[in-house]
Order: sequence, then structure tokens, then C-alpha cells
Amino acid sequence: MATEKKAIKQPKPLPAPDGDFFKFKEDLPAEEMGIVKKVREYMETKVQPIINKYWVEDSFPFELLPSFKELGIAGSGIDGYGCPGGSPLLVGLLAMEIARTDTSIATFFGVHSGLAMGSIHLNGTEEQKQKWLPVMARMEKIGCFGLTEPLVGSGTGGGLLTTAKREGDTWVLNGQKRWIGNAPWCDLSIIWARDVADNQVKGFIVENKTTPGFSVEKMEGKIALKVVQNGQITMDNCRIPEANRLAGGKGTFRDTALVLRGTRHLSGWEITGTQMGAYENALKYAQERLQFGKPIGSFQLVQELLAKMLGNIVACQCMLARSVELETKGKLTDSQAAIVKAFCTSKARETVSWARESMGGNGILVDYNVARHFADAEAIYSYEGTYQMQTLIVGKAITGLSAFV
Ligand SMILES: Cc1cc2nc3c(=O)[nH]c(=O)nc-3n(C[C@H](O)[C@H](O)[C@H](O)COP(=O)(O)OP(=O)(O)OC[C@H]3O[C@@H](n4cnc5c(N)ncnc54)[C@H](O)[C@@H]3O)c2cc1C
Repeated sequence: MATEKKAIKQPKPLPAPDGDFFKFKEDLPAEEMGIVKKVREYMETKVQPIINKYWVEDSFPFELLPSFKELGIAGSGIDGYGCPGGSPLLVGLLAMEIARTDTSIATFFGVHSGLAMGSIHLNGTEEQKQKWLPVMARMEKIGCFGLTEPLVGSGTGGGLLTTAKREGDTWVLNGQKRWIGNAPWCDLSIIWARDVADNQVKGFIVENKTTPGFSVEKMEGKIALKVVQNGQITMDNCRIPEANRLAGGKGTFRDTALVLRGTRHLSGWEITGTQMGAYENALKYAQERLQFGKPIGSFQLVQELLAKMLGNIVACQCMLARSVELETKGKLTDSQAAIVKAFCTSKARETVSWARESMGGNGILVDYNVARHFADAEAIYSYEGTYQMQTLIVGKAITGLSAFV
């Protein structure tokens, strides 16, 4: 009697979660694609396994610094001065890729590479670039960016309270800076202060560890970006040589705004990565978590949440695709960078809360890798200019009328 063999039907493998639905990265040349892949692998294998512990503890993973340095990505986008160069698209994708695993690490990196190195690159003299950028590219010196003050946040363009007074070849800085990322442990601060002689804002490179009168107190009790160490800086008659004044720019608040235009655009990339991380973790969970005997991802209402998240991510990526083209041509305006940040961060608040919601109770547990993104999105919504400030920049550009007070 012939035995009848019945083929056992294997379930179809489920698609791997992928927040790059429109194949964004395919536009990168192979060499740059290799860098992005290397960074993704680093984030997934070195950062992901330990980051929740550090986030809960409110501390920075210094154990990662030696291997992070080896990635060789500090100063990406800057040509020469020992920096790796690369296209604006690569710089954006790196920010997105890092934030996809952890937004704090993206912020630590963005503050050092974008804000601190960017300030020197855009506003430093040739000698300053030669002196500081190579050591910062090698991450032998880590930088921070001190603009916000305890009493002056959104209104920095309207007047800083930190003062700079010239005495011969020395500048005397007095005042406080608040919220400064990396400040409690880094080496160099870009300090923006008001010159008492002409009332204009000027930038200074301050060496944190060797400048008498310079002190930093770590800020405690944050509920977002807990891995980034933020500090309150106090400067009490800090004497800074004229050689450390950023004298390659205009010596006005425009110098600060120029740096912020680029990094604000970069925040759009970071927050898109944050959304991708939240979405991909929520999708993986939906494929695995069973209720009523079925994966929750098979329920229509959960699928709707996932589709809405992906729609937001794609919308942000498409906006970034055009804005980075403008940036590459040197045509990105302040108001265009502002609308990118306002739009992407506002969509991100929806995305991360839908990701959280789709996971039920586990959505608020840090171990499930969505709660961290959920909380971190709040900080990006407000830093580098709040949602309202970005909206006012756009409002002024489109109406011709300023609503800043
Ligand atoms: C995690 C984190 C990291 C940061 N890192 C840095 C850093 O490295 N370096 C640095 O210099 N700063 C940093 N900041 C500071 C950040 O840029 C400021 O928090 C931000 O600019 C807002 O300032 P503020 O918090 O003082 O809020 P405020 O300026 O006090 O604003 C409070 C609220 O009022 C609204 N508001 C204010 N003025 C107006 C107006 N005219 N019209 C309508 N609404 C208005 C704001 O939008 C906001 O909702 C960081 C902040 C955070 C949270």
C-alpha cells in the first residue's frame, strides 16, 4: 500500500520591520552606504544591548567612547581639517540611523559634531579650524554648545545675559548657561555671549577643564534623553584669549543662527530616526504578541496604528529628501529648516505615542524599546528652538509679518 505523504505547510515568514518603506538609502553612493551600514551595525550590536540600563540610570556610557571614536564619523560633512567629509545626505542619514537605536547618542553626537565642530567650521578663523577640528574629529576633545541660559531660552535672539568684555587681548566672560548637552564632562564649550561694547553676540571657544572660574553642575531629574548629560555652566570672570574668539564670522547673532539652521535641519533627521525605532519595535512586537490566539498585528485596529506611524515616517523622509537637496545646493533657508523641524517633531509625537499605545502595558516598559523613544521625542520637540519658535520663523517668512514679541 502506497503511503500518502502529506506536505506540511510552513507558515510564510513575516516581513522584517523596516522604517525605510520608500527605500530612501538607495540614493546613496556605495561608499556612503557602507558607512551607514557600519553605523547601523554598531548601534544594533554595541549600543542596543546596554543603552536601556544607562537610560534608566541617567548616565552616559563612557565604555562606548573608544569604539565610537573608531567609527570615524565626527565632523562628517566637513571637508579637510582631518574630518571625514561626506554629502549632506550622508550626514542626515547618519543622524537618522543613530537615533533609530538611541536618540540620546544621536544628540551627544549632534552636539559634538554638528553644534560644536559646526560652530568652529562656520565661524572660526583658519588657525582655529586647523587647531581644533582635527582633535575633535578624532574625538580626543569633545565639545558642547552653550547658548541657552537659565533666564533666556527661546528669546536668545532678543538678548543674552552672559557678557563678554574685552580687556586687551583677553575677553572676560560672566554669566550662566543651562541645558548644555555634554557639558558636565566634555573638554570644550562654544559659549555665546553679548559683547558689552557693541551689544552683539559673539562666540568663544572655552576650555572647560583649565579655565579658572568655569564650573558645571549636572542637571538631574530629566525624563527624556536621559543618557545625554546636560549641565548648568557658571562663568565667573573667565578669561579667554582673543585667539579663542570665533572671529571668522560676522560677530553677531547671525553666526549662531547659521549654525542652528544646519543643526535644526539635522534634528528633523534625528526625530525621523526616533520614529523609525519606535515603529520597528512596535511592529516586531505586533508580529509576536498573541491575544485571542492571534498576533495582535493581525487585528485591523493595530494595523491602522502601524500604517499611520509609517505614513508619518514616510512624510518626514520625503520632506527631508527635498530639504537635503536644497541643502546640498546651499539653498536651504532658515524658514525651510524651521518647517522641517516643526513638522517632523510634531509628527513624531504622534508616531511614538501610537507605537506606545499599540504595545499596551509593555509600551511603558523600557525593556521593550519604545518607551525610551516615546520620552525622548519630547526633548527634541523643544530643543534647538521649540515647535512654537520654528512656527514663528515660518509664519514670518510666509506672511512677511513678525509675530515674535
Ligand atoms: C534635552 C535638552 C537638551 C538641550 N541641549 C542644549 C544645548 O546643548 N545647548 C543649548 O544652548 N541649549 C540646549 N537646550 C535648550 C533648548 O534649546 C531650550 O530648552 C529651548 O530653546 C527652549 O527654551 P526654554 O526651555 O527656556 O523654554 P522657554 O523659552 O521658556 O519657552 C517655554 C514655552 O513658551 C513658548 N514660547 C516662548 N516664547 C514664545 C513666543 N514668543 N510665542 C509663543 N510661544 C513662546 C515656548 O515655545 C515654550 O513652549 C536643550 C534643551 C533640552 C530640553
